[in-house]
Amino acid sequence: MIIDIDIDDSAGFCWGVVQTIDKVENALSEHKDKQVYVLGQIIHNPKESERLEESGLKTIEHKDFEQIDAENSVVIIRAHGEPPTTYSEAADKNISIIDATCPLVRGLQNSVKKFYKDGWQVVIFGKVNHSEVIGLRGVCNDECVVIKSEEEAFGKIDFSRKTVLFSQTTMDRPTFCKLSEKIKDKFAEIYSERAKDYFVTRNSICKFVSRREDKLISFAESHDFVIFVAGKNSSNGKILFDISKKANENTIFIEDVDEVDFESLAQYKSIGITGATSTPQWFMEHIKNLLSKKFNGIIGD
Ligand code: SF4
Repeated sequence: MIIDIDIDDSAGFCWGVVQTIDKVENALSEHKDKQVYVLGQIIHNPKESERLEESGLKTIEHKDFEQIDAENSVVIIRAHGEPPTTYSEAADKNISIIDATCPLVRGLQNSVKKFYKDGWQVVIFGKVNHSEVIGLRGVCNDECVVIKSEEEAFGKIDFSRKTVLFSQTTMDRPTFCKLSEKIKDKFAEIYSERAKDYFVTRNSICKFVSRREDKLISFAESHDFVIFVAGKNSSNGKILFDISKKANENTIFIEDVDEVDFESLAQYKSIGITGATSTPQWFMEHIKNLLSKKFNGIIGD
């Protein structure tokens, strides 16, 4: 029996990741005489990181700044962005920076900074140690409140202050909306009709992630089995996987091909392959080729 094997056409790199990878590839070809570093894993996908490392990219941490030979190096700032201290540290050490911060993350940083400077209490729905949130904390001198749940919101927010709620770009939309409503209700309870002067919400969840939700649900529902491919530390990978799993119980999360039990797949008529905004197209195609070869006798590249 032939099994239908498809790749989700809404999966693959988002616009921000495409720009980041382009900048890395340009840096590697333009600075052949120098060492090209990236501060932190370039994207949350080990396969793409490995591919770029094979071309000469080296991943470093902040503590490695000390050891860099500034004259013979360039350092790429990845899509998640960095706090201002990273740029000043690089300037102090004469390190050349190539800034690949996603323009959407840069816009979010600017907005957080503006509210902070205007005296608002900044609240961020996100993971306190996620690199994007570290950058956001940095633009407001770490004087913001980071929350992940309603409980944390009510324990940490100072309801006597004018407050703005943002989100890390890759968090899940329903939880953000629910949280925003709860906080809004609390302000309404305290300030009644003046509440809108005290609390505003800025939904900064990336549209590239949220727009995929409906397409992913219909893709998952239209296949007997779904292979969701992403880096284990990808935030949007976890969120999109949960959506796929909810739509189709037969969804598995893998980072590498060896996690697929090929023999068990023979019972299905159709298999869908999808992934996060940091999952490379070439890797999903590689998995499709392996499956096609195994079940349909088709030899791909
Ligand atoms: S998911 Fe959105 S915010 Fe993040 S890199 Fe992609 S486009 Fe930028």
